[in-house]
Amino acid sequence: MKPPLVAGNWKMHGTEKEARRLAREIRRGLKTFRGVEIVLAPPFTALTAVHKAIRRSDLQLGGQDLHWEMEGAFTGEISPKMLRDSGCRYVIIGHSERRRLFYESDQSVNRKMAAALLAGLRPILCVGETWRERRTGKTARVIGRQLRGALKGLDKSVIEKIAVAYEPVWAIGTGRNATPGQASQAHRWIRGILKKLAGKRSAESCRILYGGSVRPENAGELAKAAEVDGLLVGGASLKAKDFLSIIRCFAPKSR
Ligand code: PEP
Repeated sequence: MKPPLVAGNWKMHGTEKEARRLAREIRRGLKTFRGVEIVLAPPFTALTAVHKAIRRSDLQLGGQDLHWEMEGAFTGEISPKMLRDSGCRYVIIGHSERRRLFYESDQSVNRKMAAALLAGLRPILCVGETWRERRTGKTARVIGRQLRGALKGLDKSVIEKIAVAYEPVWAIGTGRNATPGQASQAHRWIRGILKKLAGKRSAESCRILYGGSVRPENAGELAKAAEVDGLLVGGASLKAKDFLSIIRCFAPKSR
């Protein structure tokens, strides 16, 4: 059975020292806890420090983005090879902040997916609609376009290696989360597309995470929602106590 996956996206927060301290606190809090795969995605400058802080633990390291080339003249970018070298096993791709603020397209997301997989990284692919798209009934269409665009030309076997994060743009950092019902519905659409692309078995082995204003107060009901295999957490992953109580919502006894 696939274990639930909970990832913390620290975004542009934390010096090396602060990131190390946060990673250590999370590690300590998880000492007696098993059964959930946990990924920490600190800023690039703190990857090495966090990698050291979580060494020989079950915690995994993730990058927040990457470039599709392995090296070259791309000022300011970081390559899949560099993320691997820093200890990353996962990488977040297509986050709505990247799409919205840095003009990432479905095509660039697709290239990043291919490059990450080639380098042996596991992508956490983000998809999700804006509020306007939801209001006008376009949610399924938008998610479908993003998902198909991201996976275009890739072998169907990759679906077993990736996680998809449903992150409605209107819920990210707004304090307004999707209801468990809205999350389940979107996850069903995602699973349905994956089934069409790669068959039932592969689609069912892919973890579909919900992300958007997850807090200790709402994580329990989101964790129990149908088709929710984990969470991608932004703001609340910056406080060890909050992140740990979110992770605990996936403890086998609470499922
Ligand atoms: C995110 O950025 O992926 C996210 C879900 O942020 P927040 O939890 O702060 O809404």
